[in-house]
Amino acid sequence: MIRKTLKEIAEMIKVENDISSFADLQIAGASIDTRKIEKGQLFIPFKGQNSDGHRFVEDAIKKGAGAALWQKDVPNPPLHLPILVVEDTLIGLQELSRSYRNELNVKVVGITGSNGKTTTKDMTTNLLAQRYKVQKTEGNYNNHMGLPLTILSLEETTEIAVLEMGMSSKGEIDFLTRLARPEVVIITNIGEAHLQDLGSKEAIAEAKLEIINGLTDDGLIIYLGDEPLLHNKLEAYISSATKKTFGRTRLNDIYPLDIIQEDSGSTYKINLSDVEFFLPVLGTHNVLNALSAMMAAIHYNVPFEDIKAGLAKVRLTNMRMEILQGKHGEKIINDAYNASPTSTQASIELLANLPGYKNKILVLGDMLELGPDEEKYHFDIGKSICGENIDAVFTFGRLGAFIADGAKQVLPAEKVFAFDDKEPLINELKNHVDDETIVLVKASRSIKLEDVVSGLQ
Ligand code: ATP
Ligand code: MG
Repeated sequence: MIRKTLKEIAEMIKVENDISSFADLQIAGASIDTRKIEKGQLFIPFKGQNSDGHRFVEDAIKKGAGAALWQKDVPNPPLHLPILVVEDTLIGLQELSRSYRNELNVKVVGITGSNGKTTTKDMTTNLLAQRYKVQKTEGNYNNHMGLPLTILSLEETTEIAVLEMGMSSKGEIDFLTRLARPEVVIITNIGEAHLQDLGSKEAIAEAKLEIINGLTDDGLIIYLGDEPLLHNKLEAYISSATKKTFGRTRLNDIYPLDIIQEDSGSTYKINLSDVEFFLPVLGTHNVLNALSAMMAAIHYNVPFEDIKAGLAKVRLTNMRMEILQGKHGEKIINDAYNASPTSTQASIELLANLPGYKNKILVLGDMLELGPDEEKYHFDIGKSICGENIDAVFTFGRLGAFIADGAKQVLPAEKVFAFDDKEPLINELKNHVDDETIVLVKASRSIKLEDVVSGLQ
């Protein structure tokens, strides 16, 4: 993490007060949360519409913070404390991280895309950690605040940082990538998330492609070659960067062979090696995430045997394809972390192809932020549910009901159940599960469909 005297910090950003009496104070790291403050950290308060973090500055310092930023337009700065008055605390945080990034020797792998960023970040970290000292974005700290904080947490000895970059509108990735200056970028895919803000899938693709704006000279772009929106744009893109594609088809630089799906994960080979890999995570879409991570590892000369060992250690964080046991003998795949049409499609495919279960049940809820065509997206998901391999569909919510309408086109109506409340859904669902059943639960984050999972446990 950043380790500087207050004087050095004041030289890295534009400070408006005299800090000479605190010049030699040692700062170690930065935090925006007084509840988690650690000794010596620089506390950064933000002035929001409803709350003002400046109220907690004195408390933060009492709890051990080394110093704090203070936004100029907030009255009565406690100047008897080590305070750096700045025009804007968010910009202060960003500028500090930019300056620190430029001092570091670290190589950065930057990851963006509509789905699978966190998963790919964790996989890439696992593979590179076989040979390098690696740090990564913690949790989902992937935005204009999280990325600067992640950068400030990097150690000087870290060789590679794997950083996630998220967005909800145009220009955001451009900002993040210029801050992080990646040597390798991965674009996982283009889906429909944020359609509401960006208008079209083309616009989403362009927003993700902004990630190449911060690429260092002679960098590497790894992207999903199966996605025409990426392929067409990148094929025509001329620069000193190298381009490598991953995907399902043989047209890609790296693609999978002989995928075997089981409850415990996927076994597969790739076109570039004879080694057989095991990924202890469900779903072909996760094999694709792993392929992009493998490509990054190959770039950094990690041998295939080490890649194999790194893949075997991959674990996903909560509510992403988590396999759980239900009370009635059934297995549950908790995928309630989030949902968009692309990721829901991936989950349906996974359930349909999973061997070993006689009874497969989908529980799907609203997918949010899809814009004016939201009802059609839901209807189409319902229609895409392949009749042979899915035995029942339960939907929840206003938009979920459109999934049910679509599903009734491909499944007998008595196998499709639409609910507006979780209680009756759970009660009905219990009548359909036994020890040969697997239930997959998925919806947008704010729907909290994990309640259905707990209802079964
Ligand atoms: P966020 O935008 O919330 O940060 P993310 O891009 O980091 O999301 P993950 O957290 O890795 O994505 O995964 C979220 C969900 O997306 C998973 O539960 C899974 O259903 C789905 N998903 C992951 N990878 C893919 C993929 N390659 N294609 C389609 N869906 C995917
Ligand atoms: Mg994420």
